[in-house]
Amino acid sequence: MTLKIKFSDILRATLGLSTGNESWVGVSPDGDSYHIVSPVDSQIAKGVMACNRPTDGTPFGGYSRWIYFRIPPYSESTDNTQNARQNQAWLVAQELVNRLQRLGIVAIIDSSEARSTESENRVHNSYVKAKPVCQKCGDEWNRLADCLRDPDLNLHAYRACVDDFQKGVFVFVHKCGGFVNIPVRDFVRKSYVTRNVAGLQACPGFCYYERSLQECSAFCEGSRYRRVALRISRRRPVQSKEPAVV
Ligand SMILES: [Zn+2]
Repeated sequence: MTLKIKFSDILRATLGLSTGNESWVGVSPDGDSYHIVSPVDSQIAKGVMACNRPTDGTPFGGYSRWIYFRIPPYSESTDNTQNARQNQAWLVAQELVNRLQRLGIVAIIDSSEARSTESENRVHNSYVKAKPVCQKCGDEWNRLADCLRDPDLNLHAYRACVDDFQKGVFVFVHKCGGFVNIPVRDFVRKSYVTRNVAGLQACPGFCYYERSLQECSAFCEGSRYRRVALRISRRRPVQSKEPAVV
């Protein structure tokens, strides 16, 4: 039997050093399944390293008799943290396969999902903007700029997508009471500079509440989208010019 481990699982569990957390991957005694334990406070993890693991399941949510491998955090001290994370995840994955092999368990890393994300990104790049339309009365706006100028449209919510901020939606409410959904990527270009810390220690969690238009000071990819949301909600429609694409 070959254990298939998704690369995307390892990647997700590879956390930045600054989070103070780390993950573990647990493999069943028969080597037929695995699960990820993440995040684990690194102090607890140190206890586990010192063999303080109880025999009837671990204090960090593992199963008894399963074999646990630590997924060490990656250092964010480089310019390209996404790359650093990817590289670390690949090293961890290869090491995991080697260690399992020594225990008589055959494992392979399945990276098909990582590839499909790449092709999805290519689709993103050829993305064509759709005309904003009111879901209730059917009114249409030719361009985004027309929406921003229209005093009858107000920003109602920012529906963030914390897995991929480019997939978020700004929800406007029309004077008829209907909603107009506009993808955030019509306003904000993808940035590879800041990383996504949604749900991690540095995250105040605003993105989990769509009605929150609160600005966020976390050093996170998502903060830019919140700044734009705030700017839209505070705009004075009659005077606004072209939308600001940041
Ligand atoms: Zn309407």
